[in-house]
Amino acid sequence: MENKENTSNVENVVIIGSGPAGYTAAIYAARANLQPLLVTGFNSGGIPGGQLMTTTFVENYPGFPDGVLGPELMDLMKAQAERWGTNLYESDVVSINTDSHPFELKTLEGTIKSNSIIIATGASANRLGVINEDKFWSKGISACAICDGATPQFRGEELAVIGGGDSACEEAAYLTKYGSKVHLIVRSEKLRASAAMVDRVKANPKIEIHWNTKVDKADGSEWLEKIETIHSQEGKGEINIKGLFYAIGHTPNTKFLGNKIDLDNKGYIACKSGRPETSIEGIFAAGDVVDSEWRQGVTAAGTGCMAALATERWLAEKNLAKTIVRETPEPEKKLNSSDFNEEEVNEDTFDSNSEWQKGSYALRKLYHESKKPILVIFSSPSCGPCHVLKPQLKRVIKELDGAVLGVEIDIDKDQDIAKQAGINGTPTVQLFKEKLLKKQWQGVKQRSEFKEAIKNII
Ligand code: NAP
Repeated sequence: MENKENTSNVENVVIIGSGPAGYTAAIYAARANLQPLLVTGFNSGGIPGGQLMTTTFVENYPGFPDGVLGPELMDLMKAQAERWGTNLYESDVVSINTDSHPFELKTLEGTIKSNSIIIATGASANRLGVINEDKFWSKGISACAICDGATPQFRGEELAVIGGGDSACEEAAYLTKYGSKVHLIVRSEKLRASAAMVDRVKANPKIEIHWNTKVDKADGSEWLEKIETIHSQEGKGEINIKGLFYAIGHTPNTKFLGNKIDLDNKGYIACKSGRPETSIEGIFAAGDVVDSEWRQGVTAAGTGCMAALATERWLAEKNLAKTIVRETPEPEKKLNSSDFNEEEVNEDTFDSNSEWQKGSYALRKLYHESKKPILVIFSSPSCGPCHVLKPQLKRVIKELDGAVLGVEIDIDKDQDIAKQAGINGTPTVQLFKEKLLKKQWQGVKQRSEFKEAIKNII
């Protein structure tokens, strides 16, 4: 974008969080010519993009009559925020100093100064803490059915979801695509999900609801084989399953605030009802980190808008805003283009020098013939974290000037390869050189980790 940047080392506004609240705040602040800096979050509050990154179809966000995939919706919001001049910073905020002004935000890499802050850090999925949870974590137990449901170990097997909200119902319905049967384990005698979601679950013959039931223990040898349950009247029971998925609610991401900002008695940031101002002047909050009640994508976006407008007014009132001057009133439209081929390659389209290819044909050819290291990402179509990681890997490959070649395997399509490679969740990345597995990563990692490992073997 052609514009005159804010060249001082103090930002107008730093937005923390990249869910619907954060990106909407960014769109509004950017259009107010404040050139916001948005810290996307990296690890400590779930994945960048927030909870919608681990959702399949969002059917209640206005403007999408046929629904929209959660990660796709977040890509659109991100593109809109960037188009209007938001700068993105991929890191976590570790702490903020509110004792002096401008505020100081400590990130994993350094310190940022800012005249104002919008906190939109959302909430993270809870763990249950059943006996043997750590032992079977990623070996049958997962916090994200939408990310991990397609892994080979779950195919045709009985699976279980714990919870009674919209997430649990959505995940139970989603898992029926892969499992032979899904047990929905509800601790009370009612589902708190929306009526449409409850209808969908009750109409699905592959879902069995276990009312008034708690899970006590996970058991098995190498992989999860069964859970022990306690029914409130009938007592102990067992269910043989190969996958257990938690959907038991969320905790607001406020740990990095220390005691600097007032929280309510549930741990959410305390704001006056319907207002984005926090207990510290110049710091605003939006989205699920302030909202224990509505917690919808659209309400998060709405409060993100309010926080940005309030910030803009406050900065103007205090004479602190350093607005940019746009050389063109209309920023260039963002085209959704990728330099890399996203089509699955075959005998005719395979290219041994291509930096990024998709599918088992490419993997086999490169594995056997390439002298260069190959970076393989095992993904699945609805996996939000894969969505975050793929562009990062592509950037690594570009930055290394083709010294490493990338291959993407969709484990939904290439079940056999995923099985052979021992994949038990997505995204998994494997780094090979001359047929030897050099390193493996699970989940989203920083670009520098991949780069370092690749540099060590070239
Ligand atoms: P939620 O609405 O807070 O539901 C959490 C569920 O987990 C409740 O049923 C709760 O039981 C149960 N639970 C909590 N702790 C438990 C424990 N220790 N053992 C067993 N069960 C436990 O969370 P959510 O489903 O993640 O939804 C969060 C928000 O996102 C909601 O506002 C929801 O509407 C929204 N959402 C919307 C969509 C959509 O519209 N497409 C999809 C997903 C989520 P109790 O009911 O007994 O408390």
